[in-house]
Amino acid sequence: MRSNVPEIFGSMVFNDAIMRDKLPKDIYRSLKKTIEAGRDLDISIANVVAIAMKDWAIEKGATHYTHWFQPLTGITAEKHDSFISPQSDGRVIMEFSGKELIKGEPDASSFPSGGLRATFEARGYTAWDPTSYAFVKDGVLCIPTAFCSYGGEALDKKTPLLRSMETLNEQALRILRLFGNTSVRRVTTTVGPEQEYFLVDRDVYNKRKDLIYCGRTLFGAMAPKGQEMDDHYFGAILRRVQAYMEDLNEELWKLGILSKTEHNEVAPAQHEMAPIFDTANISIDHNQVTMEIMKNVAKKHNMICLLHEKPFAGVNGSGKHNNWSMVTDDGVNLLEPGKSPHENAQFLLFLTAIIKAIDEYQDLMRVSIASAGNDHRLGASEAPPAIMSIFLGDDLEEILECIEKGTSYKNQGAGRMEIGVHVLPSFPKDTTDRNRTSPFAFTGNKFEFRSCGSSMSVSGPNTILNTIVAEELRLFADELEGADDFTDALNDLIKRTIQQHKRIIFNGDGYSEEWKKEAKKRGLLNLPTTVDAMPTVLLKKNIDLFERHGIYTEAEVRSRYEINLDVYSKTINIEAQTMIEMALRQILPSVNRYVKQLAEAMSLKGMIDPLFKNGMERDLIKKLSVLEDKAYAQANDLKKLLDKAPSYDSNLECATYYKDKIIPAMDKLRSFCDEMEVNTASELWPFPTYGDLLFSV
Ligand code: ADP
Ligand code: MG
Repeated sequence: MRSNVPEIFGSMVFNDAIMRDKLPKDIYRSLKKTIEAGRDLDISIANVVAIAMKDWAIEKGATHYTHWFQPLTGITAEKHDSFISPQSDGRVIMEFSGKELIKGEPDASSFPSGGLRATFEARGYTAWDPTSYAFVKDGVLCIPTAFCSYGGEALDKKTPLLRSMETLNEQALRILRLFGNTSVRRVTTTVGPEQEYFLVDRDVYNKRKDLIYCGRTLFGAMAPKGQEMDDHYFGAILRRVQAYMEDLNEELWKLGILSKTEHNEVAPAQHEMAPIFDTANISIDHNQVTMEIMKNVAKKHNMICLLHEKPFAGVNGSGKHNNWSMVTDDGVNLLEPGKSPHENAQFLLFLTAIIKAIDEYQDLMRVSIASAGNDHRLGASEAPPAIMSIFLGDDLEEILECIEKGTSYKNQGAGRMEIGVHVLPSFPKDTTDRNRTSPFAFTGNKFEFRSCGSSMSVSGPNTILNTIVAEELRLFADELEGADDFTDALNDLIKRTIQQHKRIIFNGDGYSEEWKKEAKKRGLLNLPTTVDAMPTVLLKKNIDLFERHGIYTEAEVRSRYEINLDVYSKTINIEAQTMIEMALRQILPSVNRYVKQLAEAMSLKGMIDPLFKNGMERDLIKKLSVLEDKAYAQANDLKKLLDKAPSYDSNLECATYYKDKIIPAMDKLRSFCDEMEVNTASELWPFPTYGDLLFSV
């Protein structure tokens, strides 16, 4: 260990300890109160906080500040303003006001709004989210903010997330009160996102236009060695990677990010970083910063960090396992099966609410992880299928069955399994990832949503999770609050919910063909692509849900729908254009050069002895010439198809066209080119191969 971790940890964060230290006592107390109550900050308090924050940031080397926000592009945005303020005598002083702290007006007209700004106000503003600490990164004081239009519409991913946390808090509190808990004041959602990534050598990367433009390879025959030996998974970490991870950890720790575990993943060159979980919005802010730092630190080590969901065909892609739970302000994890019948009953109620939520809103869960990149993984036997289901493990599933059927549980002796009377057995925590094939798995005291893509913000998935669970808790609370006998009503509700929604529970192999058939029989949705999934977000039941909980207005839902489809089409368009360029300007000229070499060899040999058979040359020239013609024709076909694509304005039509017409044409072009690769002299191949990339560090 190179540095003193406790000393550097959080050293670049304006956290609670710093605030207590730097702020006058009364200001600190009012700030805390405002944060806890989720109210707007008084300007007089903001002014004092701003000065303290600025002085602290300057000590840490900052000269600028930025309202750091998460526009709908999925990455984070910042516009730097310096603290300097000119004085009449020609000098400058460093200034920062409360007004600048709490509200900003980035000229953000180029951020996608999906028509929201056209309908409402042209400009947006950013507002401080004081529950997420400010931090200094690269000499800039970053203030985490939400980004809204003047009409109040959310133009970012943070605002709906905060709204969803609020509604879940409200509904969960109602349930806890029903169980006689009068002391708890707040329920927050906790999230721990495990981040997967690839590292490749920067010089190798720089020779691949597809990686540069698209973040993934569009061509490439499989290397002789891939992931089949499973020798990379948890294997010894290479020194170069080790040095990278040490650096990365140090940078993350300085920013107060609880990077905890690091290991190699299944694929060669693939790795994972898991943080310790935190409150959802903080943890998601942290994950956004983590992705950025991962890329920056890689460059320092002359490597490139690939966050794309599917950088290499035939090799596992990268995901982001979203661990999710709910915790009370007195530290009780609501998904921890308790030790008493009473605690168990409460756990079972939350559990069944989640089961019902996932079943009724399978479509939204699928929508929340939909992107062109993630479509490559889902259902490809490396990540969960596009069909939503829940893994509970055998023990828990059996208990639910006993409750449903009113039978006895195996270890419990005679008598029916009764909620509120019997103690649940303790379940082994699923530390072994027993079932990696499930999209949504219970792992002892939390759920793990495994379908999220590695490059995406997990704001969306968590917004959906919080909202759909809040909705079921709302309905449960309505029913139970009106009941004459709470215990009877609770038993009845849990039993009925299991009966009606158990179809969503599946403990088997999610990768298998049988599951697809079985899921169809059960009436579960199978939405293989983004284009199949997106329209479901506009269903009335879904818009009603969002509006009821104040998460998105209908206009906000539509804006996200439009943006997602637009990004989908544009992503594939860039990939197709890149393929054409690589095929016509790199691959075909190189193969042609090789064919020419072969032809020259043939004719030279002929001069020596006309009876030479030239078997190899003849064979390769024939094979490669046929492939050249096919690839050339296919590249031209692809070009024509792109020219005929519908305008981006008709988003669904356009995205459907890219899915049905462009992707298959790209696949075809690739197959011809990959076939040429394995038949062409390696010294003439125009860019590094899969072998070069996967074993480059
Ligand atoms: P594994 O999934 O490999 O068994 P862990 O269970 O320790 O490993 O946790 C994986 C991730 O889940 C970590 O990021 C961890 O912080 C997070 N996590 C653990 N408990 C919770 C929780 N109650 N809420 C949200 N995330 C959690
Ligand atoms: Mg895990």
